[in-house]
Amino acid sequence: MNPVYWLAIVAVLIVVALAALFVIRSRGNALPPVEERPRLTPAAPAQAEQPLETAITAPATAAEAATALEVPEAPASRLVRLRRRLAGSQNALARGLADLLAHDRIDEATWEDFEATLITSDLGVGPATELTSALRKRLAVDGVVDPAKAHDVLREELIQLVGPQMDRTVHTVGATGPDGDDVPGVVLVVGVNGTGKTTTVGKLARVLVAEGRTVVLGAADTFRAAAAEQLTTWGNRVGVETVRGAEGADPASVAYTAVAAGRDSGADVVLVDTAGRLHTKTGLMDELGKVKRVIEKIAPVTEVLLVLDATTGQNGLTQARTFAEVVDVTGIVLTKLDGSAKGGIVVQVQRELGVPVKLIGLGEGVDDLAPFDPVQFVDGVLGD
Ligand code: GDP
Repeated sequence: MNPVYWLAIVAVLIVVALAALFVIRSRGNALPPVEERPRLTPAAPAQAEQPLETAITAPATAAEAATALEVPEAPASRLVRLRRRLAGSQNALARGLADLLAHDRIDEATWEDFEATLITSDLGVGPATELTSALRKRLAVDGVVDPAKAHDVLREELIQLVGPQMDRTVHTVGATGPDGDDVPGVVLVVGVNGTGKTTTVGKLARVLVAEGRTVVLGAADTFRAAAAEQLTTWGNRVGVETVRGAEGADPASVAYTAVAAGRDSGADVVLVDTAGRLHTKTGLMDELGKVKRVIEKIAPVTEVLLVLDATTGQNGLTQARTFAEVVDVTGIVLTKLDGSAKGGIVVQVQRELGVPVKLIGLGEGVDDLAPFDPVQFVDGVLGD
């Protein structure tokens, strides 16, 4: 045979051998067989759902329960920790003061700008005008303003506007029931859905637990299925029982059962979450009125807290008016003040309803609810 053919055959054999070798090696490095891979993929969603399920499931043993429970932060230190969230250049009140002080001489137009800035802080027209004229009276000597004095005077006047003398106690101490027995304090929490009502009930339960009180939660927002689930999770984290009904159950009956459970177990406080639909005012009036009446067959409602979202400004005020017509609101919880440059809403809502702000929400963290303190609040807003 022609040597060229021999050479060609040898070359072909070498190529085939190399190709076979390459295939064998690459099989050795291959990923695990396809059927093994799906085991990893579902693990992610399963893990994401895990905390919710485990939180709702009651711990098997007392020892397990003790280790699983969280210890909430004591209320006194909260506003100090959260104060920074009120400050910042976004804040209209602080900005108004800074603008005012940026002028060497203050003329009429500058005062007008100052007043306009106060109005944009949601302070309301009345309080903004009052504050401006108080500052004008106390500050302007020949149109010249001393910055340090201006700051101190604004601080003093703001504290006065916020109302340091108002009683901001959240009334949670039980009185005597209609049958003459000892009953828990009952806090009814109302407000439009999305304002942070359920979250507030959960956070408030933590405040009370931190104070050493025993608490029962009533999930009377039976309209939104997730609300009862959400509340149970909050309760379980701090070892608090949650009474809930079936989806769409009568809210008044759930509230009644919760208060009865609190009375029977000798709890100190029952917190009742309610639904907040505003479609028809009559429906809301009937529902909330009934919830309160039915609860009071067992125990007086010691506090009605209205939850308002601080970022909704004027809209929030309209909601507040509607609720105040429906139930006797005794305290306001302003949520999402961390996301709002409009701390002035505190003043406006108190004037509007004649009811004090008692608690403020300053974040989504479990302990980001603080008792409202006018001095700390004003210092936070002014960035002091
Ligand atoms: P509900 O429908 O009124 O019961 O409202 P939720 O309690 O479900 O809260 C609605 C949303 O507002 C949730 O995402 C909460 O985490 C959030 N939220 C509640 N309070 C605050 C707060 O003080 N600050 C911030 N940033 N978010 C909050």
